[in-house]
Amino acid sequence: ALNQGLADLNGKISVSFEFFPPTTEFMEQTLWNSIARLSTLAPKFVSVTYGANSGTRDRTHNVIKDIKERTGLVAAPHLTCIDATPSELRTIALDYWNSGIRHIVALRGDLPPNANELPKMYASDLVALLRDVADFDISVAAYPETHPEAKSAQADLLNLKRKIDAGASRAITQFFFDVESYLRFRDRCAAIGIEAEIVPGILPVSNYKTLQKFAGFTNVKIPHWLHQRFQGIADDDQTTRNLLGASIAIDMVRVLSREGVKDFHFYTLNRSELTYAICHTLGVRPV
Ligand code: FAD
Repeated sequence: ALNQGLADLNGKISVSFEFFPPTTEFMEQTLWNSIARLSTLAPKFVSVTYGANSGTRDRTHNVIKDIKERTGLVAAPHLTCIDATPSELRTIALDYWNSGIRHIVALRGDLPPNANELPKMYASDLVALLRDVADFDISVAAYPETHPEAKSAQADLLNLKRKIDAGASRAITQFFFDVESYLRFRDRCAAIGIEAEIVPGILPVSNYKTLQKFAGFTNVKIPHWLHQRFQGIADDDQTTRNLLGASIAIDMVRVLSREGVKDFHFYTLNRSELTYAICHTLGVRPV
């Protein structure tokens, strides 16, 4: 039954890949090898993150420009509003539009540690600003297990609705391992009238310690079964990298695709191996 569900969906799945700007020559090489491999799968778009430290917006922009030029893929920069004024954001958006960028992943960004002021702008404000500048295709973030700062799960859901109503065309979720929490979240989105696609963000993990670190500051649950799978083997890098990482994400995407999910976003961490393998099991093949 598992394979049946997948076979029915072959050819209808679409994927997107997320990368981050490399900081060393070695990382740059890794990134470009990954892009070369993953671009054969004809992703709907690829995105490049933006970190708050000075200079990284240029890095994001440069990687985006290179991806567009070298591969012709739709390349979407992430843009955060926490560290810029509305007029700076307008200038950035206009520059992006004028250089042919049509898709932006619009985010608030993380608060600096020990921040005691409330943010002046939220992602919904950024979406409205971008729509005002030009007719961008906009993706926003969603949190199946609730954003850590949200007053409540319902307040967070209403925030997502505000972002969609402001003009975003899809939501990409924070990574998760508890598939049920994604499915319940998708139902709750539908129930309050969100029609945009809630694209699951898949983090292929090959290292349990990294996973624990990520999960710690993002409010993402590590289910018992996942803990058990890595138990006693977390330090055995070769096995976890090759076997567990792929099998966990493959199990997840199979269930998701049986539940009708057709768009998947991958947090590649600039690697191609696991993402490629998972796409393969979804029936996504080189074109
Ligand atoms: P928002 O949607 O603005 O929400 C932030 C919090 O504020 C939520 O708790 C929300 O419920 C609450 N809130 C919203 N509006 C109000 C209001 N009016 N009053 C009170 N509370 C409110 N970070 C980066 O720095 N760079 C990246 O490239 C990046 N890429 C990401 C990609 C994805 C797919 C995801 C899921 C996250 C990414 N992040 C990135 C992390 C993101 O910036 C953080 O999670 C950030 O803390 C929240 O961003 P947001 O866009 O979800 O914010």
